[in-house]
Amino acid sequence: MEHQCHDCSYRGKRLTQGSCPACGSANIGRPKGPTTEDKPSSKTSTLIMFGLWGLLAYLLIDKLF
Ligand SMILES: [Zn+2]
Repeated sequence: MEHQCHDCSYRGKRLTQGSCPACGSANIGRPKGPTTEDKPSSKTSTLIMFGLWGLLAYLLIDKLF
């Protein structure tokens, strides 16, 4: 997991005793932006997308026949 210092914007995977190795601040959090941990939510959105396409196909077939 990657960490980012909020004081000096240092970004890295290694932390020295829970503090920033660049400035020594303990104000560390996770960096913003897409991470690999976003996979479950994208999987859910993919399922919703497939559901909507299925509904659209169903409505089209229902109108045609
Ligand atoms: Zn820092």
